[in-house]
Amino acid sequence: MEHQLATGDRMRAWGLHQECVLCGEKDEKRDHLFFGCPYSYTLWDKLASRLIGPGINPDWNDNLMMLQTRRFTTVDKVLVCLLFQATIYHIGRERNARRHHKGPQTVEQVIKLTDKAIRNRISSLKYAGDHKLGGLMSRWFEVNGI
Ligand SMILES: [Zn+2]
Repeated sequence: MEHQLATGDRMRAWGLHQECVLCGEKDEKRDHLFFGCPYSYTLWDKLASRLIGPGINPDWNDNLMMLQTRRFTTVDKVLVCLLFQATIYHIGRERNARRHHKGPQTVEQVIKLTDKAIRNRISSLKYAGDHKLGGLMSRWFEVNGI
């Protein structure tokens, strides 16, 4: 009984009985949002596929494994981390906005916002051209897929 209760609470905490506000999927399971959801996967794929290359997919664990084990250049590693954080933040923000009946924004709009947030972040880092991370912005323009 106690076990069932705990399981029920956990399921509610993950919003199992809640519809996905981004795509309308009936059961929003944990792995749905990152990135089983067509909405969030479209965003992730659009912004990350050229940077990451082959192996990008909707599975959360595969993505974490890839981030930890793939050998990136220093510049690409920084971009992948910025992108991963910005993607999760903006998907979460759009989901919360919709739950509070704001928006909705199209995936194209959220892709643009995410891109802009990454550019702002890179600008704020203020690396000069000869710094080893001086090429962050030009690399981002090269790979962002927009
Ligand atoms: Zn969804």
